[in-house]
Amino acid sequence: MEKSIPKKDDILELTIEDMGVDGEGIGKYAGVTLFVKDALIGDVVRVKVMKMKKSYGYARLMEILSPSAFRVEPKCSQHKACGGCQIQALDYQKQLIFKENKVKNNLIRIGGFKEIEVEPILGMENPYFYRNKAQFPIGRDKEGKLRAGFFAARTHSLIPIERCYLGIDVNGEILKRILAVMEQFHIEPYDEKSHTGLVRHVLIRYGFTTKEIMVCLVINGKKIPAEQEIVNSLTDIEGMTSISVNSNEEKTNVILGKRTRTIWGQDYITDYIGDVKYQISPQSFYQVNPVQTKVLYEKAMEYAGLTGEETVWDLYCGIGTISLFLAKKAKKVYGVEIVPQAIEDAKRNAKINGITNAEFFVGKAEEVYPQYVKAHKEAAGAEVIVVDPPRKGCEESLLATMVSMKPERIVYVSCDSATLARDLKYLCENGYDLNRVQPVDQFCHTTHVETVCLLSAAGK
Ligand code: SAH
Repeated sequence: MEKSIPKKDDILELTIEDMGVDGEGIGKYAGVTLFVKDALIGDVVRVKVMKMKKSYGYARLMEILSPSAFRVEPKCSQHKACGGCQIQALDYQKQLIFKENKVKNNLIRIGGFKEIEVEPILGMENPYFYRNKAQFPIGRDKEGKLRAGFFAARTHSLIPIERCYLGIDVNGEILKRILAVMEQFHIEPYDEKSHTGLVRHVLIRYGFTTKEIMVCLVINGKKIPAEQEIVNSLTDIEGMTSISVNSNEEKTNVILGKRTRTIWGQDYITDYIGDVKYQISPQSFYQVNPVQTKVLYEKAMEYAGLTGEETVWDLYCGIGTISLFLAKKAKKVYGVEIVPQAIEDAKRNAKINGITNAEFFVGKAEEVYPQYVKAHKEAAGAEVIVVDPPRKGCEESLLATMVSMKPERIVYVSCDSATLARDLKYLCENGYDLNRVQPVDQFCHTTHVETVCLLSAAGK
């Protein structure tokens, strides 16, 4: 029997043949593409059509009739509601293939590259418990009990998490102790609907190499009653190094406010990537997967091909993580970053590592670098330019300045392969060859993929 074009509320059976960029299953029915959240490639499913557009639609998973061979039992019972791990039910090796293909497809579709060889993605041996940072909202569950967990989309009810398999295990113990003090002293959690209550989030950071722990309580106010009791409940946890309170009295989804006050120990924790030491304060940006960050930076270092004679620009440098990594093998490194606090961290990190050949500038990369070039002419030249932009990629004007300076090599570190592909297309149309593309799995069980690329001046 001929299948008819799906319409809203239809209940259909289909086979999932592909996965979209956000990990959603893709199947076809009567030639029409349907997107199905939580369905995996290889699943045969029964779905209900929720919404139809002209040539595609969205359907809700009702039943898995025959599970995909790549389906595994997710460790976390809350993975669907949480949404933090979009593809935890997919076998890890298959996750890696999915990410490799995502990069490849974007290079072909958006970048217009035809014969591009993407290196096999570098994955993790143990893709769990890798995050060095966690931010738990505090609230009450349906029964009114104090909990740490996450807010489920739309419902605004707090779903408790006993154990997050991406974070470190001591998170659970820290939260338990803080909740117990809150219970004992009747300290209210923050309620975002009424903008009342006090404790909004608990931020925990962990230095994987130093085993130092930082706890920061984000509150809707300036002071917590029983502050000392909270401190006392935490200090005997091995590695506890810094406890602070951050005030955020705004009606906002942004987690941290502007002011942080240390209530016990140091203002920061220390961690290493390779042999570079970083001091990290609650507000600093720091890569969340230190094991894979090292893998990524070592690739960036290899691609930079430094001998000690080179001048390097590290654009979008954050707290100078890549800059300092490279400074050890370069003549001079210049870093540019838009967040002033991050540049303060970068300068301090250079100092504590005894690095004197790195200089940092605050501002937009697309403004600072061209201005520097204008002022210093050829003296602004560099053998290597590294860029590590946020998801939206680089401004074309910045790419234009970069190619005008004719660096021998450009190393592009990207957290969004779509904007990466767009920017590589520009660079390759303007005098550069794409030599290497290396995806790295920094965010296992999510659909995100990090990529580092090497470009060199054409004909060199
Ligand atoms: N390279 C760093 C940080 C990369 S994240 C690391 O590996 O840790 C991207 C950084 O770009 C962030 O720190 C963000 O604050 C910064 N940023 C965003 N827009 C920018 C712009 N227009 N110019 C310079 N930096 C920018």
